Amino acid sequence: ATLEQQKTAIKNRSIRRVAVLGSGIMGSRIACHFANIGVEVLLLDIVPKELTPAEQAKGLSLEKPAVRNRIVNEAFQNTLKGSPASLYSPKFADRIKLGNFDDNLQEINKYDWVIEAIVERLDIKRSLYERVEQFRKPGTLITSNTSGIPIHILSEGRSDDFRRHFCGTHFFNPPRYLRLLEIIPLADATGPNTDPAVIDFLMKYGDLYLGKTTVLAKDTPAFIANRLGIYAMVQTIRVAEEMGLTVEEVDKLTGPVVGRPKSGTFRLSDVVGLDTTVNVSNNLYQALTHDESRDAFQLPSVMQKLMENKWLGDKTGQGFYKKT
Ligand code: NAD
Repeated sequence: ATLEQQKTAIKNRSIRRVAVLGSGIMGSRIACHFANIGVEVLLLDIVPKELTPAEQAKGLSLEKPAVRNRIVNEAFQNTLKGSPASLYSPKFADRIKLGNFDDNLQEINKYDWVIEAIVERLDIKRSLYERVEQFRKPGTLITSNTSGIPIHILSEGRSDDFRRHFCGTHFFNPPRYLRLLEIIPLADATGPNTDPAVIDFLMKYGDLYLGKTTVLAKDTPAFIANRLGIYAMVQTIRVAEEMGLTVEEVDKLTGPVVGRPKSGTFRLSDVVGLDTTVNVSNNLYQALTHDESRDAFQLPSVMQKLMENKWLGDKTGQGFYKKT
């Protein structure tokens, strides 16, 4: 089909407003990417459970909007700090409304597409979807940015309309630059599956409007890119330990010299966030039944140690590298 024909095909479903649930590394950047192309965005995160010492000193309470939106505010500001304004269209940030799940989730009924990008934990995603079902208008797209939790498991217990409009939309980090977008349809026998028109729409929208190269992936553990990527990372760490290579030596060999312009293996782990990598790896380990392929995803002890120290990467200021 020609470009014009493809554009006509997606005209029936226009995306003017997108709600992004979760303002962490991915959610904030996905929000910026949409706002940059002129879409109105609602970006939400959790209400903090406790006051910080600074908030206490100011006499603030957990009822104050500034406190209730602290997590989303800080995450979004951190994202902007790492992204020179010149990279985006003027005033793109004005198109992003920040809020929290307790006060603003009901507003998703006015949005065309809800993208979930919260922590990579099935139980937490599932309970958010239960809340989403209370407010989501029938027909609204609802997709997950999960790195690898099976789409059919995420959709367990959901309504028929939710299932018909649900699939994985897996952006890569940083979503502004990495062109791959995996689209993972729901396909199981327990209820209706993703409407093929929804998949068709998302693939075209991703290619034409988001500047991505969309790839249709089956709902297999960690889909395609992370099944390969996590495998490569775990094996690289094992070989490095065996050969006594340093972090810097490995990154030198797995970075720009082999065509990865910004980051070698360990630097990438810091960018992604070790907790996310560990969650994806553990989920893969549990999902695979064949002993041999399963063992390949057993976490190297160095990753356990970093987790114990809470050295999660850039998000905590220290991972394999210290953030300068
Ligand atoms: P992150 O840790 O930066 O952010 C996760 C967000 O979830 C945080 O803002 C946190 O406040 C929120 N959260 C924590 N507990 C919650 C709860 N109980 N209810 C609702 N929200 C809660 O994580 P991220 O890296 O942005 O990852 C988000 C999703 O995107 C995950 O599914 C992850 O697997 C996926 N993903 C991550 C990357 C990456 O490189 N980091 C790449 C592709 C996909």
